Amino acid sequence: MTEAKGPTGDRMIRVDMTHQTARFEPFPAEWKLLGGRALSAKILLAECDPTCDPLGPGNVLVMAPGVMSGTAAPTSGRISIGAKSPLTGGIKEANAGGNPGQDLMKLGVRAIVVKGQPQDPNKRYGLEITAEQVKVVPADAHKGQWNYALCESLGEHYATASFISIGPAGEMRLSGASIACTDGDSRHPARHAARGGLGAVMGSKGLKFVSVDAGKRPVRRPADMKAFMEFSKTFTRDYLAGPQMFKTGTSSIVPIANMLNTFPSRNRTSGQFEHAASLDGARIVESFATRGGGMHNCMTGCIVKCSNVVHDADGNYKTSALEFETLTLLGANCGIASWEDVADLDRLCDEIGLDTIETGAAIGIYMDSGGMEFGDAAGAKRILREIAEGTELGQAIGNGAVSIGKKRKHHRVPVVKGQALPAWDPRPLKATGVTYATSPMGADHTAGLIINPGLPLDQFARASQESQIVNAACDSSGFCQFLQPTIAEIAKYYALLYGEEVTREQVAEIGWNCLADEWAFNDRAGFTAADDDLPACMKDEGVGPNQVMKFDVPASVIADTKKKMAYREELFAIKATG
Ligand code: SF4
Repeated sequence: MTEAKGPTGDRMIRVDMTHQTARFEPFPAEWKLLGGRALSAKILLAECDPTCDPLGPGNVLVMAPGVMSGTAAPTSGRISIGAKSPLTGGIKEANAGGNPGQDLMKLGVRAIVVKGQPQDPNKRYGLEITAEQVKVVPADAHKGQWNYALCESLGEHYATASFISIGPAGEMRLSGASIACTDGDSRHPARHAARGGLGAVMGSKGLKFVSVDAGKRPVRRPADMKAFMEFSKTFTRDYLAGPQMFKTGTSSIVPIANMLNTFPSRNRTSGQFEHAASLDGARIVESFATRGGGMHNCMTGCIVKCSNVVHDADGNYKTSALEFETLTLLGANCGIASWEDVADLDRLCDEIGLDTIETGAAIGIYMDSGGMEFGDAAGAKRILREIAEGTELGQAIGNGAVSIGKKRKHHRVPVVKGQALPAWDPRPLKATGVTYATSPMGADHTAGLIINPGLPLDQFARASQESQIVNAACDSSGFCQFLQPTIAEIAKYYALLYGEEVTREQVAEIGWNCLADEWAFNDRAGFTAADDDLPACMKDEGVGPNQVMKFDVPASVIADTKKKMAYREELFAIKATG
C-alpha cells in the first residue's frame, strides 16, 4: 500500500439554501491542482446555467481558497468567490485576503458551493463550519447589521473563528455589493471580494455570514516538508532583499499614476488630478507618527504587508486598507481632495458592503451629470448612507455605474461589460485596455494589468494574454498578486506540496483553461465579440497633453488576444500584477 503524499482529507461543502441544509463531501482527487479562480470557474461551468437569473435560485455561489492556502508558504491564503454576476451578467471571480481562506484549508475544505434560495426573502441565515460539522443556522438577529458590528457580535459567539459576511448592500441585492472577509490579526471585515456584485448573490441566498473555526488545526503538511520549508526560506529572503514595492501600500503609487495620466479625475474627464499630492499614500504614512496605525498583513503569513491601517485624528482605528484604487475612484474621480474624506468613504463602503471602485465610479457619474458638485465629500458620505437606507437614489448608485448612468440619462459611463473601469486607465495604458475588453470579468485590473505605456501595438495581444494567464494562475494558487509570483514559482510550490512533478506548462494550462472556462460560460450567457469593447468615452475623449491619448486599439488585436498562443519561455518568468 502506498502512502498518500501531500495534504490528505480534502473535502468540499455543499449548501442547499432552499432547505437550509449543508454537508461535507469528498473533493475530487483529479482537481487537486485546481483552487481559487480556476476551481470556481470549473464548478460554475459545470453546475450553473449561464442564462439563469443571477439573483434567482439557479445561481451558484462558490467560495474556493487557493491551492496553497492553509500552508506555510508566504502570502498564500487568498480565497476566490465566484458566481454569475448581477453586474455583468457573466461569470465573476473576486479575490480576497483575510483569514477565512487559510482557515477553510486547514480544515481541508477546498470549496463551499451554495445553491438554492429560501422561500422567504426576509429570512437570514449563517453557515457554521468547524472540523466536525457544517450547518445552516438562523441569523435573523443580524438582519441589516453593518459589517463591523456584525463581526464584533459574531466574535462574541464564535471566539476563534474568521468570518465571511455581507452588509446591508448585499442583503438588498445591490449590484455593487461586496463580500467581506475578516483580517487575520484584528478580525475587522476589511478585506473584500469586491467586484461584480457577488455580495448581492450571497444576499439573494439569504446568507448573512459564514463562520470558519479551524480551532488548533495546524497548517497543511506538504509532501516534502524539508524541501518546502527550504524553498520558502529562500523565496522569502529573496523577496525581502528585493525592492519591496508595496512596502508602504498601493496608495504610494499615486504620484506615478498621476504622472502617467492614469489617475483619472472627475468621472475620467482628465487623467490627472491637481490635488494628487493630498491623496498620495505618503500622507497616510506620515500620519502613522502622530496617530498610530501603520502597515500590517491582512492575513497570517503575508510577508508583503501592503495593507495600511488608518487612524483618525484622535488615534482611533478608522479603516484598512486605503488602497490606490479607492483613493482614485472615491477620491480624484469624484473630485475629492482629502485622503481623510476618502478614508471615511472607504470605511462606509466596508461597513455597508460595497465595492469602492464601482461605487466611486457611480458617484462620479452622478456628479458629472449634475446631481451634485464634484468635490462634495459630505454629499458623497450622505449618498453612501442612503445606499444603506435603501432610498431611490441610494439604490440607483448602489447598483453601480450603468444603473445611475441610465437614471441620469448620462452619456459618459466608463464601463466594460457593465462593470466600472478601475483606476488604471486604458488610454495611456492601452494594453491594459485590451485586458479590460477581453477579460471574462469585464473591466478588472486584477485580470491582467500592464503598466507599460511605451509598449508597441503589435505586442498588445500577447502581453495581455500572457498577463491574463499569469494572473489567473496566481488567483488559483492562493498567492496574493502583490507577492508577484511567477508561473515557475507556483509550479515549484505545487510540486513540493504534492511530492510530484508539476511543470510550468501545467500551471500555464491551469491559467489558460480557467480563462477558457470563463469565456465559455460568457458565450453561453449570450456575450458576443461586440461585448469585447471599450465604451465610446474611452475612444472619443482623450487624456494627457492635448488630450491625444485615446483608446484606439483595432478590433483585430482584441480578437487575437483570445486566440491561444504558444507558450514561450518568457511567460514563465512574468510576475503576477495587481
Ligand atoms: S500583500 Fe497586501 S493584500 Fe496581499 S495578502 Fe498581504 S497584506 Fe493582504
